[in-house]
Amino acid sequence: MSQGIFIISLDFELFWGVKDHRTIASYGKAILGGRTAIVDMLDVFAKEKIHATWAIVGMLMYDNKKELVKGLPDKKPQYRNSLLSNYKGLEEVGADETSDAYHFGKTLVDKIVHTPYQEVASHTFSHYYCLEEGQSKEDFQADTSAWVERCRQLSIKPQSIVFPRNQYNLSYLSVLKVQGFSSFRGNESHRLYEARSRAHESTGRRVMRLLDSYLNLSGHHTYGISDLEKEEGMLNIPASRFLRPYHAALSFLEQRKISRIKKSMKHAAQKGEIFHLWWHPHNFGTHPEQMMKQLREIVAYYKILEKKYNMKSLTMSEVAKEYNQLGKA
Ligand SMILES: [Zn+2]
Repeated sequence: MSQGIFIISLDFELFWGVKDHRTIASYGKAILGGRTAIVDMLDVFAKEKIHATWAIVGMLMYDNKKELVKGLPDKKPQYRNSLLSNYKGLEEVGADETSDAYHFGKTLVDKIVHTPYQEVASHTFSHYYCLEEGQSKEDFQADTSAWVERCRQLSIKPQSIVFPRNQYNLSYLSVLKVQGFSSFRGNESHRLYEARSRAHESTGRRVMRLLDSYLNLSGHHTYGISDLEKEEGMLNIPASRFLRPYHAALSFLEQRKISRIKKSMKHAAQKGEIFHLWWHPHNFGTHPEQMMKQLREIVAYYKILEKKYNMKSLTMSEVAKEYNQLGKA
């Protein structure tokens, strides 16, 4: 029987990922808290040998605004909803990471790169939305080239990608393949989690997803490595669960959330399947202590499963490599 696999992927985006629906006044504290949490997460990952995939927005990978502006692609997406574009309002971005920690995160990227077992992946250059109206495949191509170029400068190879808001467009996958990418994080395979543009998202689906994180409504979302499939040459490594931020008003349900995650992890370990957990660092930002405690509990449980069932921790690109060795490619 194959070994169970525990995947962690994080969408590291700073303010670029929330700009269309948040302000620095309302959410800045969570962004800064998320920065501190990254350092704590890396400590845990290094100590416990956790392999994690960090999908990073290209725009935050610069030392300063001058360099960022130099790295911008010529072609930019013209979303019908112009709020979605991170190229709007660039004049409000500060000079560098010291003066604007909401937009620049190069020191944290360096920390990730220098921590063992970590993979740097793409979260696109501009936090690009592949299903929104007004953008085109050519815009996505330009965005991808900008990310790849910035990473080339930092000696980081393109391997895996996580699409912002999990909006992925099948017809764009070939663009990534050509640039050297080999895998992407697909959505949980259940109708509640299908990718949709923001305009097509309903409150009902959101409430159901919230409930699903406490109660097993939609199943474990684990899967065997040999059941994975390539789309346009790119391996789809679906998410199993989003690690929700600590919910102060529903704090009595927090333990239920963790126990639902643990049950799915155990299910994967016993069946020799994959459990893929994801979150954003800023999800830790408002209640960092509670969230770090939860992460430590999850990692400690993984260590038990590792001992008992020989479960292993892998990055997305490591899973893609193992998949290719199965000879299915
Ligand atoms: Zn994002």
